[in-house]
Amino acid sequence: MVSGSPQKRGAAPRDGDDDAGDGRALGEPADARDHEIEEFRYKVEDMEEESSASGSEPPDDGRPRPTVHQLELDEDRIDPDAAKVVRRLVRGGYEAYLVGGCVRDLLLGRRPKDFDVCTSARPDDVRRLFRNSRVIGRRFRLVHVLFGGGKVIETATFRRAPEADEDRGADDLLIRNDNVFGEAHQDARRRDFTINALFYDLERGEVLDWVGGMPDIEKRAVHTIGKPLVRFLEDPVRILRAIKFSAKLDLGITPETYDAIVEARKALARAAKPRLFEEILRLMREGAAHRALFLCWETGVMDVLLPELSTFLADREEDDDRVWQLLQEIDRRTIENGPLDDVVLWTVLLAEPLREACDGARDRVEMAHEFLEGVVDRLNVPRRIAESIRRIVALMPRLESGRGGRFSRTPLYPVAMEVLDIYRSALGDAAEGAFDAPEGPSDGAAIAGTTERRPRRRRRRRKP
Ligand code: ATP
Ligand code: MG
Repeated sequence: MVSGSPQKRGAAPRDGDDDAGDGRALGEPADARDHEIEEFRYKVEDMEEESSASGSEPPDDGRPRPTVHQLELDEDRIDPDAAKVVRRLVRGGYEAYLVGGCVRDLLLGRRPKDFDVCTSARPDDVRRLFRNSRVIGRRFRLVHVLFGGGKVIETATFRRAPEADEDRGADDLLIRNDNVFGEAHQDARRRDFTINALFYDLERGEVLDWVGGMPDIEKRAVHTIGKPLVRFLEDPVRILRAIKFSAKLDLGITPETYDAIVEARKALARAAKPRLFEEILRLMREGAAHRALFLCWETGVMDVLLPELSTFLADREEDDDRVWQLLQEIDRRTIENGPLDDVVLWTVLLAEPLREACDGARDRVEMAHEFLEGVVDRLNVPRRIAESIRRIVALMPRLESGRGGRFSRTPLYPVAMEVLDIYRSALGDAAEGAFDAPEGPSDGAAIAGTTERRPRRRRRRRKP
């Protein structure tokens, strides 16, 4: 856990946190309430303020001062190349820190998956200091400093949040341009969650905190910087990021942030579709797909992104936990062997509602196609992935009965077999015949024409 001695420089309340101290239980939409998985009741108590975003007495230069925590992070877990980048920048006369996910992970006692550096040096200055670097990005220029083995240390100049745009009304907070250089404290505030905005000064062994991130690390809480609703409306993808961090790092979400997720969830429909597609995959890839998807369901986020799945869940038999069991199996495999193939992840995620949609259909490919149309439109699912899901689902009855035929010589075969294997491991005997073989032929790609299927059950929509 975190240790160290914070030096407080004034204690003003954190923006948007005026009522976060009441310790109330997290809001949640109606029918998730009685779900048996108690561990997913995200509750963060003890919300009293401990830190400040800005001192009550502004220092002479007008810059807010951070709370400084003297603590040496575990050098063994700090990437030596990232440390090299920071130290060379500092020797060059610039400010430079480790920042973001790596500092958060180190403080939580985890091994970071990558290291980001932020600095007062402009991209061209960074470029000059590192021969092995290249400037990337047109909108916001970052420098990639390259090391052996394909390692990249992303080095970004401090930037600040864009000025409030006169033309933007209250309902249009969406950020379209965040391309302005700034100072360290501004760079901290433009970030999404307090735990993601801590800067680590390697030379001094100090964590600099302008946003109350350290107390949130100690409380293990995901909380936005500033008013949650505003921050989610500015960039709705942050909703999925909150869910991802809560799920994969096993953190709570503060009540205020949780309520704002529920309130802002419909704004996800306005976010860039490829980002949504990618973020959903990230929820599935981190070994916490079960927790993440459960949170999506509980908050109503799933109603916006994957209504096909949320209606299926709302309408399933009471004791049918297959979707959750499948996701747990994904997590088990991910923790054991690393992230699964994207097609496997998407197929398993949608397998249960897809199975129902194809139930009894003569032309399973056509049925799967119809089912997936909405998902593909909403999330810009790449054609390659959508097509693979259709084929796997269509062929499942044959694979189940060991009749792979021609298909067993295609590259998709091992992917399909992994899906089947996940079904078998997750559901045991119940997996047998899960993809009920239809009457007649089913090798969809070859079959066109009429579809015949049982009428679908009418679905009862869950109230948001
Ligand atoms: P991970 O371990 O999943 O990579 P991360 O915190 O490093 O977590 P990144 O997506 O790599 O996440 O982003 C790096 C940092 O950039 C974050 O820690 C956060 O400070 C900032 N950031 C990323 N996305 C946003 C966003 N949508 N809005 C504001 N800040 C963001
Ligand atoms: Mg990262």
